[in-house]
Amino acid sequence: MKINIQAVQNEHVFFREEEVCSFFLVDALRPYYPGSARLVADVERIGKDLKVSLFLNTEGEYQCDRCLVTYKAVLENKLEQMFHFGSGGLADSEEVIALPGDLIELDLRQMQNEIVVLNHPLKMLCKEDCKGICPDCGADLNIEACRCGEAKVDPRWDELKKLIR
Ligand SMILES: [Zn+2]
Ligand SMILES: [Zn+2]
Repeated sequence: MKINIQAVQNEHVFFREEEVCSFFLVDALRPYYPGSARLVADVERIGKDLKVSLFLNTEGEYQCDRCLVTYKAVLENKLEQMFHFGSGGLADSEEVIALPGDLIELDLRQMQNEIVVLNHPLKMLCKEDCKGICPDCGADLNIEACRCGEAKVDPRWDELKKLIR
């Protein structure tokens, strides 16, 4: 998303822009977000300072860590960033990004990506209480009972067999 900054030449102005667009993420995350993102940017200029509040909503395609089923879930959140026209003032601190005074278009793609990176699930679960897959028989324990309990012979019988032999 890019915002036309010529509209914020006034010292005090507020506006909202909405857009649905595809976005480009680092390679590692791209497969999880094949669709487009809905973006709402609230832009407020006070003097030489510009506050951008960006909201992003998209759909992630994940694979459950426990049962390996693929599932979809909404990823959405917002991020605020301060900008400053020209040098001096608040500019050049860690929280504020300096902008050239004659900038025409403000590129928010970095912010878009940051929202996804910060909210990407570290743990992927199709549901809170997913029971996962039995490592022995491969049964999906969410939909069927484990089959290996019945088939397995009590290991103590093996010891007995040895004694008989
Ligand atoms: Zn699962
Ligand atoms: Zn099993």
